[in-house]
Parts: sequence; C-alpha cells; structure tokens
Amino acid sequence: MANVLIIGAGGVGQVVAHKCAQVPEVFENITLASRTKSKCDKIAAMLPRKIDTAEVDADNVPELVKLIEKVKPDMVINVALPYQDLHIMDACLETGVHYLDTANYEPPEEAKFEYKWQWAYQDKFEKAGLMALLGSGFDPGVTSVFTAYAKKHHFDRIKTLDIIDCNAGDHGLPFATNFNPEINIREITANGRYWENGEWVTTKPMEEKRVFDFPAGIGEKDIYLLYHEELESLSKHFPEIERARFWMTFGASYLKHLEVLQNVGMTSIEPIEFQGQEIVPIQFLKALLPDPASLGPLTKGKTCIGNIIRGTKDGEEKIYYVYNISDHQECYKEVQSQAISYTTGVPAMIGAKMMLEGKWMKPGVWNMEQLDPDPFMEDLNKYGLPWQETWLDKPFK
Ligand code: NDP
Repeated sequence: MANVLIIGAGGVGQVVAHKCAQVPEVFENITLASRTKSKCDKIAAMLPRKIDTAEVDADNVPELVKLIEKVKPDMVINVALPYQDLHIMDACLETGVHYLDTANYEPPEEAKFEYKWQWAYQDKFEKAGLMALLGSGFDPGVTSVFTAYAKKHHFDRIKTLDIIDCNAGDHGLPFATNFNPEINIREITANGRYWENGEWVTTKPMEEKRVFDFPAGIGEKDIYLLYHEELESLSKHFPEIERARFWMTFGASYLKHLEVLQNVGMTSIEPIEFQGQEIVPIQFLKALLPDPASLGPLTKGKTCIGNIIRGTKDGEEKIYYVYNISDHQECYKEVQSQAISYTTGVPAMIGAKMMLEGKWMKPGVWNMEQLDPDPFMEDLNKYGLPWQETWLDKPFK
C-alpha cells in the first residue's frame, strides 16, 4: 500500500484523485497539491474518502522539495502543466521519489515539445534507483501501450501506424477547448509532422485532412493531421515503422473560430505591452474561455481514440484497429468530469498502480511502450476504459 502525491488540481487532477481514491488497496494515502489550494479542497470534498491537500508552486524546486519531504510519498503523479515537468523531476531526484507524468516537457517561451529534455534524465534516475514514467495519459499513454500490445500479440513487423483521436462530444458553446486552452491551441496551431521512411515530414497546420467512419454510432468525421509527442518515442522504440501519423477530429465551427483568433493575434505566445502591463495574448484568451472543467455537465456524446496498425504476421499482411469508446455523460456521472479529462486521468492512475505494484517498476526514464502492455491493458478494462479490437479489410490511406 502506498502514499502518493498528485500535483495539479485541474481537469485531469480531479479524475486522478477520484480514480486513486477508488483503489485504496494500492493508494492508501493521497495528497493533492496545486498552485491554488482551494481547487484541491473542492476536489477533496467530492471524494468518498479523506485525502490531504496542499499548496505548491511546482516551478519552485525548493518549495516542491519541502512539500515532498513533509508528505513522504512513494511517488509523484504530475498532472500540472508540461512546463513543470523538469522542476518536478528535479525535486523527485533530490528527495528520492518516483515520478509519472502525462505530457512531455515544453518550454513556456517556445511552442515546442520534445522528449530530449526528459530523456536526458535517464542516467540520473537510473543511478538514483528511481523510475520516471513519461506520458501516462491516453495519447500519449494508452495509444503507446496499444502499439506495444499489437506488436507483442499480433505482428512480427509493424509497417504503418495511424493514431486517430475523435471527440464527438458537443458542449453546446460556440468555442471552448476540452483541456487546458493554452496547451491545446499551441498544439493545434503548430505545423503538422509525421514520420516516414526514417525522417520527419512537415505539413502546414490542418493541411492534411481525411474523412473517417468511426464505430459505435459516431459515424463519419473530418480528421486532421497533427504532430503529437508519442510519434517521437514510438518511431524511436519501433524503428521498423515506415510511417507513423496522428489525426484528430475538429468541427468546422471550431476551426473557423480558431482561424479568426489566430488572424487577430490572440493565439500568440509573444508578450505584448497593454496599458502599462505585459500580457501574453494566448494566456489572456485562456482567461476569457470557459474553464474546461465547466464543460463536464454540458458535454454529450462519445470519444473514440485508437490505433490503426498495418503490418505482417507470418508473412501475411494484416490491418488491426484497437480503440476505446468513452461517453462524456457516463464519465461525468462517475467523476464529475468530461471524457477528455477522464481518458487522461484513468491511465495516469493505472500507470502509477503498475509502478507501485512492481509490475512496471524499474530505474530509469521510460516511455509507456517500453513496458509490458498486458497488465496495463487488463486494468484499462477494469478501471473504466474498456478497449475493443477488430481487423480491417482496407488500409487507411
Ligand atoms: P488544467 O489547466 O485543467 O490543470 C492544470 C493544473 O495544474 C491547474 O490546477 C493548475 O493550478 C496547476 N498548475 C499549473 N501551474 C502550476 C504550478 N506552477 N504549480 C502548481 N500547480 C500548477 O490542465 P489539465 O488538467 O487539462 O491537464 C493536465 C496535464 O495533462 C497537462 O500537462 C496536459 O498537457 C496533460 N494532458 C495529457 C493528455 C494525454 O492524453 N496524455 C490529454 C490531456 C491533457 P491552478 O489552477 O491553481 O493554476
């Protein structure tokens, strides 16, 4: 039985707190800390069990160290923002505590996410006998485990990988983002990028579009090629992959709003001077947009996130599709959050559980696909993210 410290009391933090609280046989003591303690207290009040709460600025390593020394957790589950990753990793090293996150480090001043900064901690974690598990959300996270599972059980060789993320939910508002608006908009307005024949191919934002017919009654939706962080680690850890791409659904109205906001400069991360104050336009926009957590009670419909994998087994070519369907309203009923936070928070809890139960525990810095997919896949079915698999007769082009 373990003691965990969750950092970040946003949409995902709320789900992680709920899901850890549901598994007392693993998570005996839980502390939820964030920049704003009142947010932690609000979440704590929703839970059926008592948890502790604390205030911490996760950009301040000495403050983090002090909190970790007080709480004495076995591990930290970092669901603050990607900007805090390295600070929290430093504090974990200083205090001898294991680490997990759901998104790779991004420098605040540059819209660029890469694993190089966190992979550089490999030796330090290994020497300290500590584990850092990177990207234990849905994508990255479950999509990485889906790939490892496909390779372990269904393919001798993977040729192409397409990760397709569909949110068919509707919140009825003209424009809102389903998770942190700053992170979301930075991701979408960046160039697209995919892996092909050993190199990265860059596309303009939203340049590559397809129509995909989703299962579970969702039907046909427009999907757009984006760069997503798991492509970097999957192409490294499965060098046989000839082409790896990531796709996401966007509605026409969402894209129109985003285009206008971009055209007027509201999505910029460059600070500007306004009435004697320096402001960052995208941060100001975040303050205007609905808090993603407030979308929970409004959102109806399903999500479908999965991988289409083409490859060979015993010389025969096969096309495999593995996916999860989640329902926004069902998620809300269980943890008072919509499905985007739910599908991220559940894998964070399961990743922590894998580490604490010793199934995945090993010193060093690891991406999800480097670990045995089987116990994680089993727990997805048990803890709210059941998956389905099928064979397709036509390749996804
Ligand atoms: P939110 O913005 O809702 O929550 C982030 C939380 O982190 C807030 O409570 C915020 O506190 C806290 N925080 C921010 N800065 C600090 C700091 N310096 N010190 C302490 N706490 C801080 O984001 P989400 O919950 O939607 O996302 C959480 C993480 O999950 C992000 O890293 C995101 O990229 C990742 N994610 C991963 C996905 C995946 O599938 N892998 C999918 C979706 C998200 P406060 O409110 O007080 O400012």
